Amino acid sequence: MDSIGEGRNLEMSRIPVIAGNWKMHLTGESSGALAQAVADHHGGETGRKCLVFPASVHLGSVGSVLAGTGVSLGAQDCHEAAEGAFTGEISAPMLKDMGVKVVLAGHSERRHVFGEEDSRIAAKAAAILGSGLDLMLCVGETLEERENDRTFEVLDRQLAALNSFSPEEGPRIAVAYEPVWAIGTGQTATPETAQAAHAHCRAAVAGILGDEVSASMPLLYGGSVNPSNAGELLSQPDVDGALVGGASLTIENFGPILDAARNA
Ligand code: PEP
Repeated sequence: MDSIGEGRNLEMSRIPVIAGNWKMHLTGESSGALAQAVADHHGGETGRKCLVFPASVHLGSVGSVLAGTGVSLGAQDCHEAAEGAFTGEISAPMLKDMGVKVVLAGHSERRHVFGEEDSRIAAKAAAILGSGLDLMLCVGETLEERENDRTFEVLDRQLAALNSFSPEEGPRIAVAYEPVWAIGTGQTATPETAQAAHAHCRAAVAGILGDEVSASMPLLYGGSVNPSNAGELLSQPDVDGALVGGASLTIENFGPILDAARNA
């Protein structure tokens, strides 16, 4: 159970996935301590998958703490090229070499703070899968897009990053629906809103990679998930997990979210 893709099949593929995106937070010491606390809390349970995405400089030390614990190591981003003159960047093969299993592409901060466009995100997604890593593609609409009734159109456009992949690659892909207006704002999507968006994403994935891949693909919700709202979100039929930002930074908050996955 090292990655979102391992051991996947139609019977067991939709077990809940709880992922913590630590963004540009924590020190070497505090990220190691949090990784240990997450591993202890997870306890190697097989009824859920647990992933953490530390800052890239902490991947090595966090990876050492997580080895053999059943908690998978993820990276928050990568460059689309395998190598080259790209000062400051990290490639997918380099991440793989460090023991990373899963890489995010298209996180809203990459799209809206760093100006990454769909074509760049598609190239990164291809680099991630091409390097043998699993992909967690993040999609989500802005408040303005939602208010203009463009949510589904935006999700379709962003999910087109999967167009170049084959159904055989499907088991190495997860999608995280993260409405931009809900990230870091405390304004969580209602369970009904999340379910509607997830159902749309699942249908869109079916159109791209086929019904079988779509039926078994984990779709995570992200956007101000906390211990109080995790249970209801995870109980929605098409919400298979949570990508958690702020509340993943302490075990006091992340632990109960992990526990909510038990009953999902
Ligand atoms: C995120 O950054 O992916 C996220 C969902 O953040 P938060 O939980 O803080 O809204």
